[in-house]
Amino acid sequence: MSELAQEVEPKEVAELRREVRAWMQAHKPADPGFKLPQSFLEVESDRQFEFLRDWQRKVFDAGYLGLDWPAEYGGKGDPLKRQRVVSQELSRARAPFLVNVIGLQWAGPTILHYGTEAQKKRYLKPILSAEEIWCQGFSEPGAGSDLASATTRAERTAEGWLVTGHKVWTTLAHQSKWMILLARTDPGAGKYEGLSYFLFPMDVAGVTVQPLIKMTGEGGFNQVIFDRAPMGRDALLGQEGQGWQVAMTTLLFERGAAEGSGGGQVTASAESVQRLASLAARARRGGGRAAEDPVLRDRAAQLWIEEEALRLGSLRARIPGLNLDRPQALRLMNKLVYSEFNQRLAELACEMLGPATTLWLGDPHAVERAEWPRAYMNSFGMTIGGGTSEIQRNILGERVLGLPKSK
Ligand SMILES: Cc1cc2nc3c(=O)[nH]c(=O)nc-3n(C[C@H](O)[C@H](O)[C@H](O)COP(=O)(O)OP(=O)(O)OC[C@H]3O[C@@H](n4cnc5c(N)ncnc54)[C@H](O)[C@@H]3O)c2cc1C
Repeated sequence: MSELAQEVEPKEVAELRREVRAWMQAHKPADPGFKLPQSFLEVESDRQFEFLRDWQRKVFDAGYLGLDWPAEYGGKGDPLKRQRVVSQELSRARAPFLVNVIGLQWAGPTILHYGTEAQKKRYLKPILSAEEIWCQGFSEPGAGSDLASATTRAERTAEGWLVTGHKVWTTLAHQSKWMILLARTDPGAGKYEGLSYFLFPMDVAGVTVQPLIKMTGEGGFNQVIFDRAPMGRDALLGQEGQGWQVAMTTLLFERGAAEGSGGGQVTASAESVQRLASLAARARRGGGRAAEDPVLRDRAAQLWIEEEALRLGSLRARIPGLNLDRPQALRLMNKLVYSEFNQRLAELACEMLGPATTLWLGDPHAVERAEWPRAYMNSFGMTIGGGTSEIQRNILGERVLGLPKSK
């Protein structure tokens, strides 16, 4: 956040910001001496996981998570803008990310929206404290962009439900206690009406979690096979047959089109541009510094301008009076523009590095522990997970520009 924006902040917000900044300075964990994942999509080993879980617990114990969630469910009942301040300061400090992203940002807000009192009391606080980690079981081998084609089946029994099927690309399933699960409860009903949404316990019999390896050589996501895996009656979130509507609410949170998160980093584009500028000042290209190369310099300046436009756009999105023409446009653009912006930024960094881009993890000569080439490769996942860029463009075309609906 720029100095100008801070100057106009109300006194109590500025005070909170100062307090959080001081806390971060005192408590931000030291480099653990082993490779940390760049995001929650690449958590592989138990020691990475425990380090990150411990950090989230500390942030929660300090009172900086769930600020905007009701006090009876572990939060503080404060206005959302106070949680935003904490999130901004986490990013600013380049603190480790909070590992329970799916719980904090997608499952938690969806449970707050659709959960019974008992469900809210049971699930929300352990999300904030990272005691219970969540994963998302939406995608299947035959149902990604076309999510409503999901075939994983939940069959009713006297005690609850039995799940049989196959989910894929399930981030963090290997460390999760719970899954938000989209499953078909009525194969005879229409594609959308036959789906229900569940809070599924991962530690029951009949669940097999198998790791999948990405092009970076890292793990972090999985496929999950269910073979008559049981869940209780109270696992249903919302009404039976309402799964599509509940899942769409989750996706609004996931794509940044709705806010309600219990906390976590915001997209740290300002910090990334500063890191790019610092790299440009050091990297050597064509006999000089990358920062002196007119073409690279021009592209870096363009990204800086875009970053400022994104920052101002997100401020604008929060002021209803400035969005009367197209109320949802900025929010619906969120995922698309941030994921593609970050990809172009990492790509430019790799160009500045030149041949050094090929030096990979573990190579003593790798620049910044190969953070940039790793970020570039990981950026592709961000343009796919939660809905691909093509799907996001379809949504914008249909809902913002009013173009005819795609089939
Ligand atoms: C890093 C990562 C993490 C993920 N984590 C999770 C997770 O935790 N839980 C989970 O449930 N899922 C997760 N996913 C899955 C993700 O949601 C799907 O990959 C995504 O929705 C795309 O589905 P698909 O892979 O089946 O591709 P497909 O739907 O088969 O698409 C293939 C290509 O066709 C294009 N396409 C498809 N339909 C259209 C259309 N109508 N118009 C134009 N183009 C179209 C797509 O854009 C894409 O380029 C993750 C994915 C990634 C990459």
